[in-house]
Amino acid sequence: MQLQIIGHTAPFPAPGLACPGYLVTEGETRILIDGGCGVLERLLTVCACEELTAVLLSHFHFDHCSDLFVLRYALDASRRRGLRTEALPIFSPSEPPELAGLLTYREATRHVAAIPGETLCLGAIRVRFLAAEHTLPVLGMVLEGTTGTLAYSADCRWGDGVVATARGADLFLCEATFQDGEEDAAGATGHLTARQAAMAAGRAGAGRLLLTHIPAAADRQVSLEQAHADVDLPVALAEAGRTYCV
Ligand SMILES: [Zn+2]
Repeated sequence: MQLQIIGHTAPFPAPGLACPGYLVTEGETRILIDGGCGVLERLLTVCACEELTAVLLSHFHFDHCSDLFVLRYALDASRRRGLRTEALPIFSPSEPPELAGLLTYREATRHVAAIPGETLCLGAIRVRFLAAEHTLPVLGMVLEGTTGTLAYSADCRWGDGVVATARGADLFLCEATFQDGEEDAAGATGHLTARQAAMAAGRAGAGRLLLTHIPAAADRQVSLEQAHADVDLPVALAEAGRTYCV
C-alpha cells in the first residue's frame, strides 16, 4: 500500500502547496482522504478523478473538504463523457447535514454516512473509522492493506482517542498544528502540538510518524525537532508529492 501526500498545509493553502489531501493506493484501488483547498488541481497531476475508488472525508472544516464540492463537477463531466458509470462514494460524518447532503451530486457522487467503529472494504483496502475529538464530529481512520497499516489522526486534540487511532499502525499520519508552549491553544481549538503527536505515536506503538497539518507560517523544522525530543521512533515531515510505502 502506498500513501502519496497531495497537500498538507492548513488551514489555508500557500503558493504551490495545497491543504490536506492524501492518496492511498494498492493495486487498482485508489482512495482519496480529505480534499481541501488546492487538492483537486494537485491530484489531477497523478490520478484521473474517474479512477478513484472512494473518498474518505474526516470532517467538514473547509481546509479538508472545499475541493470535494468541485470534484463533483469533474466527476459529472467524466460521467457524461462515458468515462465512469457509477457514482463515486464519499464517506464522511453525517454532520452538518446541510454540507453532507451536498456530497450527493446528480449521479456523479454519492454521500455515505460513516460511523465510528464501522469497518468496510474498499477494493484491496480495509478501512476502519474511529471517533476523533475536535470541535465538530471528526473521523480518525485506519487503512489496512496487504503490506501494512496506515492510521490517520485527522484533526484532533490530545486524549485517549488519538492514541487508539494510532495503535499498532506501521505509519501514523498525524496532525501537528501547534508547537511547544501552544498547548492551551491546541486544546481549545481541538488540535495537537508536534510533541503530543509524537507522544500518541509512542504510546500506541506506531512504527513511524509523519507530521502533517502544520501551518505554512510555522517553522516545520522546529515541529520536527520537538516531535523527535521524547520518542524513539522515526519521525518525518509530510512532503507534498512524496510517496511513502506502508
Ligand atoms: Zn484542519
